[in-house]
Amino acid sequence: MWYNVSSITDKEVINMSSNAEIIGSMLLKENIKPSYARIRIMEYLMSRKSHPTVDEIYTALVKEIPTLSKTTVYNTLNLFVKSNIARVLTIEENETRYDADMSCHGHFKCESCGVVRDFCFRSPAIDTNDLDGFLVREKNVYYYGLCPECQANKPAN
Ligand SMILES: [Zn+2]
Ligand SMILES: [Zn+2]
Repeated sequence: MWYNVSSITDKEVINMSSNAEIIGSMLLKENIKPSYARIRIMEYLMSRKSHPTVDEIYTALVKEIPTLSKTTVYNTLNLFVKSNIARVLTIEENETRYDADMSCHGHFKCESCGVVRDFCFRSPAIDTNDLDGFLVREKNVYYYGLCPECQANKPAN
């Protein structure tokens, strides 16, 4: 009887704890000690598509983890990046954003409201013949412009 309300609630509770378990074993596999703060930081990063900054993650989690510091958030994210389970976006010179989505995708930044959106691109769509013999470690595709909302709000001259 999966449509029974109480069993749906149970299922959600189980899902939440298994999430932490999955992230915990993912960190262990990278030889990262799965502390509560580290698990929550990774969970936050994975559940948001906003590509948050250190400040955003700190502000969101400090209510729940009062011992958290910005340095801890920063060091944890660096650890994730070194282990290749997160990546840094330098789409903006003066801010560093983080992304736990390691699949091949580009980023669009709206120059008006600052929203950062993922978009898919197939790697062969970019001709890299000129890099024959080069070892590519990282691929970044950054687009800039206006999101649909900002285009709609733009005053006509
Ligand atoms: Zn916008
Ligand atoms: Zn992304």
